[in-house]
Amino acid sequence: MKCAIIAVGTEVVSGDIVNTNAPYIANVLKPYGIRTVLQMAVEDTEKDIIKAVKRGLKKAELVITTGGLGPTYDDITKKAVARVLERELVRDEYSVEMLNLYFRRAEKKMTESNLSQCYFPKGSRVIQNPNGTAPASITHTKKGTVMMLPGPPVEVSALLKTEDIQNYLESLKTEEIMETTIKFFGIGESHLEELLSDYMKKEDNLILAPYAKTGEVQLKITAKGKTHEQAKELTDSLKEKLYEIVGEYIYAEGNQSLEEVLLASLLENRQTLVTAESCTGGLIGEMMTAIPGSSEVYAGGVVTYSNQLKMRLVSVSEETLAEYGAVSKGTACEMAEGARKNLGGDIGISVTGIAGPGGGTDEKPVGLVYIGVSTREKTDAYRFHFVGNREKVRTLSAKNALHLALQASKQLGKIEK
Ligand code: ATP
Ligand code: MG
Repeated sequence: MKCAIIAVGTEVVSGDIVNTNAPYIANVLKPYGIRTVLQMAVEDTEKDIIKAVKRGLKKAELVITTGGLGPTYDDITKKAVARVLERELVRDEYSVEMLNLYFRRAEKKMTESNLSQCYFPKGSRVIQNPNGTAPASITHTKKGTVMMLPGPPVEVSALLKTEDIQNYLESLKTEEIMETTIKFFGIGESHLEELLSDYMKKEDNLILAPYAKTGEVQLKITAKGKTHEQAKELTDSLKEKLYEIVGEYIYAEGNQSLEEVLLASLLENRQTLVTAESCTGGLIGEMMTAIPGSSEVYAGGVVTYSNQLKMRLVSVSEETLAEYGAVSKGTACEMAEGARKNLGGDIGISVTGIAGPGGGTDEKPVGLVYIGVSTREKTDAYRFHFVGNREKVRTLSAKNALHLALQASKQLGKIEK
């Protein structure tokens, strides 16, 4: 089944409000096998809403509108939908009763305009709103089905969870859909696609789609089957292939972030992490401490921006700085080792680089970053050349440092204490 979603509201089109309802609704529909094929956002004018609903019904069997159900003069979605469906608007007495009750409880006076919320295209199923006063409705006609939802996101989510709407969606289900996300680090999107070209072809019941994020790539597997087992079987066999071909780049399945995976590995191996950051200015510390429970494994870190502090806090030698400079493999190694020893941790990581926009030279261009990793077994540093603005260089530096820490954590294994 195909669906078109229409967000109604001048404030949505103008950019004052972010249209979060449309993706939210589209994702709620997915497990029921309902595919969203069109999204529109239109101003609160009858003409525009009518046009959009007509277009939606041409493209999909189900049209869902959100917004414009309230009692104010600009709430005209129902009028427009009724025109398209050629149904008159009739009063739903149960909704009137509920509205009366609401106003009595709230000790407010009901006005005539409030009653406009109680009119629906003839023959609609009306669904009371658990989080607001404007009810939703579902109208089936020969032209297609239209579901009208209010605008506020808390009302949309509450309505989609009601038994009435759940039952309706369940009745449309003809297949099981399973979505699985596999997360990659250290490989670019195009390289990944190339290695997996045999599997990137779109089959109807098995789709592999890449999404690139800063520094990482995610692959989403969408499998469809008559039963959950069938969908799972398809997913599992494709996953097996992925691990075979590009397994070395996979760091997580599901929605875990890089820092969460690192935290889990540190916990499992009973290791502690410390950091010495220069151009990232504490970004790694911020990313780690943002996760609840990180205090178990992240002991802390220092921001050693100046050469002085690099020497004083993490024991970088004056000779190394004089001979190779602050942005060098030698400095990164000494920072990581100094952090590990001075701050006391099992794994020390360091970042030193040129985030830009200024400060680059031919020899040491903007984006040049060294990341050091030190454990009791070995200390090493890796050279990166990131392309992008200051923010991007810093983010990529922090993420790569987290990834190197993850690799070190796995390599080091369980620490007996
Ligand atoms: P109400 O009874 O509250 O007036 P309504 O159905 O008339 O409900 P709107 O007036 O269109 O809804 O929107 C109310 C508020 O809901 C908006 O000001 C906005 O904050 C939020 N909203 C509306 N549409 C969207 C959307 N597509 N995505 C996210 N938020 C939205
Ligand atoms: Mg409104």
